[in-house]
Parts: sequence; structure tokens; C-alpha cells
Amino acid sequence: MNTLAPYAANPAQTIGRQFDEPASAPRNAFQRDRDRIIHSTAFRRLEYKTQVFVNHEGDLFRTRLTHSLEVAQLARGIARTLNLHEDLTEAIALAHDLGHTPFGHAGQDALNASMKNHGGFEHNLQSLRVVEKLEQRYAEFDGLNLTFETREGILKHCSIKNAKQLGDVGQRFLDKTSPSLEAQLTNFADEIAYNNHDVDDGLRSGLISIEQLSQVELFANNQQMVAKQYPNLEQKRLIPETIRRMINTLVTDLCTQSAKNIAQHQPQSIADIRKLPPLISFSAEIAAQNHKLKQFLRKNLYHHYQVNRMSAKATRIVQELFTCFYDNAGLLPDEYQAFAKSDKARAVADYIAGMTDRFAIREHRRLFAVEEHW
Ligand code: MG
Repeated sequence: MNTLAPYAANPAQTIGRQFDEPASAPRNAFQRDRDRIIHSTAFRRLEYKTQVFVNHEGDLFRTRLTHSLEVAQLARGIARTLNLHEDLTEAIALAHDLGHTPFGHAGQDALNASMKNHGGFEHNLQSLRVVEKLEQRYAEFDGLNLTFETREGILKHCSIKNAKQLGDVGQRFLDKTSPSLEAQLTNFADEIAYNNHDVDDGLRSGLISIEQLSQVELFANNQQMVAKQYPNLEQKRLIPETIRRMINTLVTDLCTQSAKNIAQHQPQSIADIRKLPPLISFSAEIAAQNHKLKQFLRKNLYHHYQVNRMSAKATRIVQELFTCFYDNAGLLPDEYQAFAKSDKARAVADYIAGMTDRFAIREHRRLFAVEEHW
């Protein structure tokens, strides 16, 4: 562990948990949060949830579990460089995707559309709901009873309407203040992780090519560095050598620019951080390159016709599951039926959001295919 900067989050001075608990030495409060997240049911489900590729499409693609581990690895490294609290970034990283629906963004959009007249559905908000309510494994409270700092980091964005109902962690969206630097940097670690692993998975799937990526500055610059150093390198090594340099470019730039921002504003405490504009950022030059890579992926990978076909299927499955359960809550498992008595739509959304890709496909088959049982 590094020497903490005075403006880092400090577990000894946490704003606290919703329900008071005695400390658990030798673990600090953020380590304890991380441990609770790893032992949750929602965390294990991440193994069978995906973002771009559906789980059964191939064993080598990232799942939300491996994505979350990559985010944690990057976030800890950045935190250490900037003398911020590594354990807090790890807890936030491992929890940030817990609320994701099956089938990535197509699933989320379909569930949100189904929930249009019932308060909507947003995966980021759902991650918070998982750790505050849906995990039921402790005798004295629902959820994981995490510290304020971890919950604040999980809630990356939030509408004013929702913020008003969220209490402590919603307040910063109303006050327009900033979260901890640990929360800010974990958000960037998320973005660095998925942009780069989507390039890797995209190439592996054959949906995008090196020739196409050569038009993207961030990839081209790093690819040229590799080619210069190793002129005859085979492709299977060229791709990871390029991607590791892209990650290095982004992480190094993020650390350098953020250190400059911090030096410029001279925060003395985490209270100062909350009052200042966000201090974790890329330089303008790298932010622009990163943005172009994102645009490239959106156009060429996330909207590739083969991905669109899977998304269309995913949308249909989620819509049909929702309608089926909403029209007949008697089809829900017992525990969800009990909740459905007070809020049917939210109970159905919670049930669907908790499904893995393969469970959703199986459940859909059980409900719609006559030859399937229960
Ligand atoms: Mg993520």
C-alpha cells in the first residue's frame, strides 16, 4: 500500500455504513466492502453475462466478470500511482456492473422500454439496488451494507429525479459536487478496459480488422511502434503487443494529466475534492484519440450487422419475458411473487435483471416452447 495523499479517501474516516457494525480488523472498511462484493450472488453471475458478445458465442471473449477484474487491476494501478486508496477503487470496480441485465446494452434498453411507465430501468442504478437491497445474506439487513464511499463510486450517473429519491449518494447530483478521486478514476479504468478489450475481442471475432483499425490514430500509433521494434512479428503477437501499448498510453496519460490537475488545484482533503471540478482526466490530445476509438467501435463493432442480429434477439427475449411475467405474476418464482404484490413491474425487472444470458434464454424457452417443462 502506498502513502495516502491527504485528499485520498480514508477508511478510518469513512462517512460510514447504513447500519452500524463493529469494525473487522485487520481489514479496513473498504477491504471489507470488497470481500462482501466478491462473496455476493450477483458477483458470481457476472461470469455468465456479457456486453458485446453473448455468453455462448465463445469461451475466449470477455465476460462481465473478467471485465470487472480488468477494471479493478487498472484502477488499483492508477490509484497507487496517484497515492489514492487502492482498496476503495477495487471495491467500486468489482461492484460497478452488478446491476447489468443479460445481453448487455440491448437487454438494458429493452428492459428500460418495458419499464417506461413504471419508473424506467437503468443498470447503474440497479448496481446500487443490488448492494443496498437485493442481496439477502445477512441476518440484520438487506443488501451488503457497504460504506458510503463504495456506494457513491458505484453510482456513476443519475437523473435529478432519481437523485432526489436516493438520499446520501444522490445528493451530489443535486449539489453538482464531485465524488472521491477513487470513484472518478475507476470510471476511467472502466472505459480504458472496455475500449481495449473490445478491440481485442472484436479482432478475435473477425467482425473488425487490423486494416480498419489502422485508420484509428490510437491504434495506428502504437501498432507502428510495435512494427518498428519487431518488423516480422506474427499477428497473434502483434495484436496484444499493440493493445498493451494502447493501455499504457492511456493509463500513463491519465496519471500524468490528473497529477497536473491536482497540483494546480492543491486540494488538502477529500472535502476539497468534493467541492472542486473532477480532477481525474486525460490530456486533451489523448481524450480526442480515445473518443475516436470509441466512435470507431460504436460504428464498426457494436453496430455490426451480426451484433445487431444478436441484439434484436436479445431485445425480443427481454420484452417477451417482461410482458409474460407482468401479465401473469403467478409465473414468477415465489420470492418475486411476494414482492410483486406491492410493486409488480419492479419485481419483474429485478428478476429479469438478475438473469444471466443463458438463464434468460432457458427461461424464455420454458415459458414459450410447448415441449419444455416448467
Ligand atoms: Mg463496466
